[in-house]
Formats: sequence, C-alpha cells, structure tokens
Amino acid sequence: MAVITQPTFCRFCHANCAMLADVEGDRVTAVRGDPDDALYKGYTCIKGRQLADAHNHETRLRHHMKRGDGGLAPVAPGAAFDDIAARLQAIVAQHGPHSVAVYSGTYAFQNSAAMFTAHAFAKGIGSRNYFTSVTLDQPAKVYTTLRMGHWGGGPNPFSGADALLVVGNNAIISHYGPVGGVSPFSPSRTLQDARARGLKLVVIDPRQTEVARQADVHLAVKPGEDVTLLAAIINIILSEGRFDQAFCQRHVDGLDELRAAVAGITPEIAAARAGVSADGIISAARIFADAKRGIASSGTGPEMSGDGTLIEYLLASLNIICGRFVRDGEPASPPRVFTAQTPRHAGVNAPMKLWGEGFPASRFRGLTQLGEEMPCNVLADEILTPGDGQIKALIVVGGNPVVAFPNQDKVVAAMQALDLLVCIDIRESETARHADYVLAPAMCLERDDITNLSEWWHETPYARYTRALLPPPGDTIDEWEMFWEIARRMNVPLRFAGGEAALDVRPTKTQILDLITHGCLVPPSQVRADTPDGRAIVYADKAPMVTPPPADAAEARFTLTPDAVIADLTARLAVAPDPGLEFRLSSRRTKHVFNSSGHQYAALQKKGTTNYAHMNPDDMARLGIADEATIVITARAGQVYGVAKASPDVRPGVISMAHAFGDFDTGLAGVRAHGNSTNRLVDETSGYDPITGQSRQSAIPVRVELVAAAVAAE
Ligand code: SF4
Repeated sequence: MAVITQPTFCRFCHANCAMLADVEGDRVTAVRGDPDDALYKGYTCIKGRQLADAHNHETRLRHHMKRGDGGLAPVAPGAAFDDIAARLQAIVAQHGPHSVAVYSGTYAFQNSAAMFTAHAFAKGIGSRNYFTSVTLDQPAKVYTTLRMGHWGGGPNPFSGADALLVVGNNAIISHYGPVGGVSPFSPSRTLQDARARGLKLVVIDPRQTEVARQADVHLAVKPGEDVTLLAAIINIILSEGRFDQAFCQRHVDGLDELRAAVAGITPEIAAARAGVSADGIISAARIFADAKRGIASSGTGPEMSGDGTLIEYLLASLNIICGRFVRDGEPASPPRVFTAQTPRHAGVNAPMKLWGEGFPASRFRGLTQLGEEMPCNVLADEILTPGDGQIKALIVVGGNPVVAFPNQDKVVAAMQALDLLVCIDIRESETARHADYVLAPAMCLERDDITNLSEWWHETPYARYTRALLPPPGDTIDEWEMFWEIARRMNVPLRFAGGEAALDVRPTKTQILDLITHGCLVPPSQVRADTPDGRAIVYADKAPMVTPPPADAAEARFTLTPDAVIADLTARLAVAPDPGLEFRLSSRRTKHVFNSSGHQYAALQKKGTTNYAHMNPDDMARLGIADEATIVITARAGQVYGVAKASPDVRPGVISMAHAFGDFDTGLAGVRAHGNSTNRLVDETSGYDPITGQSRQSAIPVRVELVAAAVAAE
C-alpha cells in the first residue's frame, strides 16, 4: 500500500511541534519533525516521536466501555450516551446542578476544542464544579497576579531579553517555559542561541538542572525558601536604587510598602535560610536589575510549594519595579492568532480580582472559584461530604485524578463514592478502573486541531489548522463530540464566546472552533482555507508594528499592595525554616513522560519505568543507601517507596522525584516497574495556598530510610 506523507503537528504536549506523518491506508506508520517549518525547524522530542505507536497501541480503547458485573465491557455508542445523559439528568433533578462535576485534565488541553466544550457543558448544566489541571500545578500565575494590574503592551519578549531569572523551571526537560521564558519547542537550542547573543541567566533551583548548567548564577535554594530569596533580591534592587524609578513613579503604587516588607531580608539572612551564598544573591539581583530588558518567571515547582501566590506576587513585583514591559513606540508584541484580541497600549490595565466575594464558593476551606473554575483541592471533599451541593457525578476528560491529585487514598475513596463516574480516556487508566463508563476518544492524528495552545509562546502571528489524517478507529469520536452527544440528549446549551452550538445537527469541528475563538485575529475556518496543505501560516500583515501610547488619559496603575499581600508576605518571612524532618522532597519532570501519560509505550519505558528518588551522594553515603537501593520516604501525611539514584546535581538535604507516577498505592512490589505517586505524601487540608488551594506537592518535609533487606525480599 502506498505511503502518503502529510504535514501536521504533534499534540502529545502543548508545544505543537511541526511534524510529517507517514500514513499507509488507515494507519500511521511513522512521524518525524518537519524540517521545512520555519519556526520548529524539524524539532521533536522522544514523546512526540511515539505518536505512531500511541495510535496503534494494543492498550488503546477503540470502543466505549460500560461497567457491569463482570467489569468493563464494550457498549454501543448510542446506548452509552443515552444512559449517561439519563443518569445525569436524574442526578441533577434530585440533587441540583452542582451535583455534576467536570474535570479537564492535561489531555483536554491538547485538543483545541475539548477543554472549552467540557467547560461549556458544566456551565450549561449550571454547575459551579468545573475543575482543571491548572489548579494542580500553576494556578497563581494564571489567576492571582492580575490583581496587581497588567501591562497593555505585554512583557519584554524572550528574543529581546538581556536577562532571564528563572525560579524552579527546567524547560529543557519539561518543555514548559512560562510565557516570556524559554520556548517549549527546541528549548535547549533556544537557550543556547540566547546565551550566544548575550542573555544573562539566573536560575533559582535546588538542583543543578539542565537549564541551571547554563546559568551565570545558580542559587541552589533550599526547597520552600523561594519567598525569602526573592524578597532579598527585591530588597537589594530597591536599596541600591537599581529599579526603574521613572517607570515606578508614573505607573506603580505601593512601592514604599513593598520596600518596608522586604527591608529586613538582607542577603546574609536570606543566604542562611535558603542555604546559598550572600554574594550569589547580590549577583543575581544586580544581573537582573542592570539588564535593559528581561523577564522573571517561575515553573511548576515553586507554585507547588504552598507559597505559589506569594512567589508569583514577588516575581510580578520584580518585573514591575524593573519595568520589564514593551514601551510606547517599541515594536509591538505579536498578536496570538486564535486568541480574542485586546488592544495593545503602553499602559496599565486596571487590576482584576478573579476569586473571593461574588465568586461561587466551595463548601471547604473558604476557597472559591478562580475565574470560572473550582480549585482541585476541594474535589474529594465535595464528593465525600453529604449536604447541599455534594458532587454525585463526575466526568473526567483526559485526566487521571487517582495519580495526579493530592491525598491518593482520599481521591480513590471519592471516585468509588460517586453515583456516576465517566472517564474519557484512550486507555483504562488508574482512575478509569473506578469508572461506570470509559469513553474512547479519537487521537490527535484522527482529528482537526488548531495551535491555540502553543501560540502563547510564539513571537510571530504563527498559526496552523491541521486536518484529520486518519479516520477514527472503531467507535471513537472527538472529545468535544461526546459532550455534544450528552448535551443534546439533556438539552443542555453549549455556549461559547461566539454563541451557542446547534444541538439539532452536529456542527463540524471547524464551526465549533470558530465559536470558541470568536474575536480572534483570524478565525480557524479562514486559516483552514488559507492553508489547504495544512502547513503553518504567519499573518505578518495583521500584526501591529509599534506599541501605541496608553489607551486613555486617566491611566490605571500597578498596585504592589493588593488585598492583604503585604501582611501575608511579612508573616511568611517571619516563619523560621521548618525544623521538622531532615529532607525536603522536591518535584521534578522527566523528559520521557508527560504527567501520567506515556508510561505504556515501549520506547519510553526503555528510558525508565520508575520515578527515581534522586539524592545527593553524600546524603546516601551517610545513610548507608547504595545506588538503586529501595528506600522508604515518610512525610507527615503518608509514606511511599522509592528507588534511590545518586545525583550530584541535587543539593544535600533534598529528594528530587517526579510526580504523577505509579498506580494506586503501588507500594514496594511495584516501585521499580511503575514508581509511586508522591501525592500519597500530601495532605490537601494543610499547608495549601490560601487563595488557589494549591496543595503543597513540592518542598515536602520528609525523612528517608533504607528498606530493610528482609522487607525488600518479601
Ligand atoms: S515537545 Fe511536545 S509537541 Fe513537541 S514533539 Fe515533544 S511531545 Fe510533541
């Protein structure tokens, strides 16, 4: 059979690398990077190169499954959607709209319509209980910094930055650089090129990561002391007068309060608490402040430390006091093609508060919706606790709460307590094992998609509309179509920015994407028409050339004192380092899996099946732990087994371990084959971020012991 090679892009992760796919009949046989794509230049990573295996894999579900007495068994699509819709309708009638919850996991974001349709479905029902994986790792940078105001011209672009200050982000491995930071595609080359043109790099990370190895200054901070370190850096910049005084005078309120709050955090005090050198802190502050343009940003690790809101506040403050924004008359930051357009201007957009009073509230911990989503912190309690608003039904799309959520035993109890659990997943995941239905979705090469996720990192108006290259096998359909099938049967409206989707006749995906992206620069249908070959197009003629002056005379100002942040910061800085357990467990990423996805593919398994507990060799020698020995890691909330790995790049006193591994309580027997979920060490009811509910899933105090040989032999 003839092999046809077609251009497309990868959707294993958010980077959307340009690819060429070899298709033989109804089967993809190989994929590789597209060397002709001007932006990606042929780059791919090992995960994306497994797309052919992923589509053809033996564990992949090709039919929807329903649980009966004998476990899961195939069910006809019509019967599945009829029953799910009827049961949801009955649950809403008896318990009210909040009794139905929807969770969009990592993979809902990789489909350009799934997450938006899942959200529209929850809203259409009238449920406040819509959750996403954003509140499992980086909610503060999305939701809380807007209360300080935001710059209408955008931040300094990475390509023009002279300095980059990165806290707890290893984009070379995670393929996730914060917006304005290292791009998720070809991150190593991007960083090397930037270094070659003169970029100064400051990295704050307990580990000498792949990014930290290129740094001018690496501060190997003790996990949990990022707040102290950032406060000291701001203190140096303010006390030495290295901030942008003219910018602050014109655009910023609250400078004196911030100055007073950090004044006591000298380099020496921060050095003692954070376990780094005072000279290093001073160098880091001066490098960042003295650059003409720069960006300070963070990754997942600091946000997971329980201090996410304060860390993002301090990073935003650093950018504000140093005026790290595109100014009046400078080249305008390029528009995102598929994102609703907002006017560019060299001024401050007024602060916005996206939680608290006026937002739908959870019954737990005083937490409310952030924007339009409820924090994942409260999902298990909202299911397990009787009363008005109790969640009785949950639809999980592209997610795996049993492995990804904190407090694993409680999450499993919650999944088992539901009246109805529907998982949309390509396999029988650890969560799907508790599901009443597992709905089998089409995979990426079998559906149309646009680059609306990756465009947050693009510095040109780059856009792609890829068509489905293969027919979806068996009964599989696109995830958005599943919500549409259920909504149609329940008569639940699906409202998007551009209006309501028809429920009588199924829209095309192009029509749905046009509704979702309403107000964008170029509608998906137009991009589709402009690019019949499915390759990228750059709408350079639609990009503004220069940044105009502020939008109106009564210009808004940044505030460095929103809510009670100064009191919160002062209280946090007064807290002495945790004197409890000897080690801190710090979260990390691995290159060959994407959260809980990818563990089943042979080429990725060759890179490792366990989430090694990386430790400094000196700590291991002191505790008598040999390389590859089995250890037990104990936190206040629980215990997991791990396989020790000697790693000189980890600072002493730290265990560095990837999250979202393992099964339910993999225990000792499965630790080498599957790893263990570090979330078994996490109690979501204490030490969480008070605004976002982000649990302390990193910087966890733990102790470490060698598993006795007798126990290991069991
Ligand atoms: S970086 Fe992400 S998008 Fe690119 S090839 Fe790897 S998995 Fe695919």
